[in-house]
Amino acid sequence: MNRRHPMERPRDRDLQEVFRLIAASKNGLSKAEIVKKTHLRHLAVTDAVRTLVERGFIDITPHTHDELTMDDAVSIIQSRFCVIGLRILPSEVLGVVTNLRCEVLPIGVAGEELTAVKDLPDGGHDVEGVVQAVAELTQQLVDQIPEGYSVLGTGVELGGHIKSGTVVYSPNLQWRDVPLRQRLEEVLHRQLNAEQHARFGPRGSQVIIENDANALAVVSQWFGAGSERTSFALILVGDGIGCGLVINNELVRGFGGMAGEIGHLVIAPENPGLVCRCQKQGCLEAIATIPTILEAIVRAKKANGEDPPATIADAVKLAEKGDKLAEEAFEVAGDALARAISYLLNLVNPEALILETYEPMVTQRLVPIVTKRLRRYCFSTVQKDTDIPQNPAAPERGAKGAAAVMIMELLSQRLPAEQAGRTRHLADPERGL
Ligand SMILES: [Zn+2]
Repeated sequence: MNRRHPMERPRDRDLQEVFRLIAASKNGLSKAEIVKKTHLRHLAVTDAVRTLVERGFIDITPHTHDELTMDDAVSIIQSRFCVIGLRILPSEVLGVVTNLRCEVLPIGVAGEELTAVKDLPDGGHDVEGVVQAVAELTQQLVDQIPEGYSVLGTGVELGGHIKSGTVVYSPNLQWRDVPLRQRLEEVLHRQLNAEQHARFGPRGSQVIIENDANALAVVSQWFGAGSERTSFALILVGDGIGCGLVINNELVRGFGGMAGEIGHLVIAPENPGLVCRCQKQGCLEAIATIPTILEAIVRAKKANGEDPPATIADAVKLAEKGDKLAEEAFEVAGDALARAISYLLNLVNPEALILETYEPMVTQRLVPIVTKRLRRYCFSTVQKDTDIPQNPAAPERGAKGAAAVMIMELLSQRLPAEQAGRTRHLADPERGL
């Protein structure tokens, strides 16, 4: 196959779009089908497919010639590469291993597990303790990957403001300016034994760090409600509130890595009781996170001399039974969410809004309230234009999202031969997708 001039390489965005399509198809796709689905030009698809073949991510079947015709099927090479995806929560780290289709591979001594978990002491506040736990879980997963696979990297997601591998600020973990990617790569390099080092591919034990809502948005592009849409906003309501924003098939990170920080939009500045973890008054996060909803119900029940709910699931059950105090707390949270989301929808006008929590009962409770209130807050036809689909939210989806971010990043990395004659340095692993 002729090597193209480096300047003629396909755009990262085209590579990612073509790769996602091929990964999502069970039996492979022909080039003609890719052209039809992506609306890219023939030449752009040919370039993208050729580059993916050269880098060893996909294969052409039947493999009878070097040049791809319109009818040849291309599919993902299944059995060679995998990536590790990790989700850091204040209480634990959860890990998965996926193939390049971002399908979770079985792990464990008997190959019967899909996830591995490591508890974190001290609510994740101790940076070095978390780094050590994450490195140990990575080593454990490397030991358990199926025979014949090599690991191409580790994606890590957590809540907070992430920029170029540094956790600038994570209210969840109470971290500021932690160079997490650098620390993890250093510790892995030092701690991996020779056998574990050998399981990694040519780029070694590289790590990428991503915001949790962004990671979910990326995995939704592959498997979820985002897969058929070019523009969508994924709002994640948990201990904080984040937003992954995909516009024209690209994840938008913004200049400083803070695009979509919807949780700290100030929507009730006049209320002195609503102090956010970021110390500002009246942020969305001071009203509508899972803990703040539960706290509001507990406070109201106690003030009324009634038994408070112990968990958010109990709180949802109360609301479902028609408990006025619980219903009111969800209405207040849903209204605040709708207000903040309306700003986003008016500004960006995405095709879909995906509202997600890791508690399906909470999602079901909030979605109708938010949908109703958006009619009141959105301009013109914005609310009607926006589809609000359901999205699955299994606990391992965040870790899977981190793996998807790593796979997308790999597509942006040039082979050494592609670097020849170029003055630019190797792609920064944390560069935008
Ligand atoms: Zn705030």
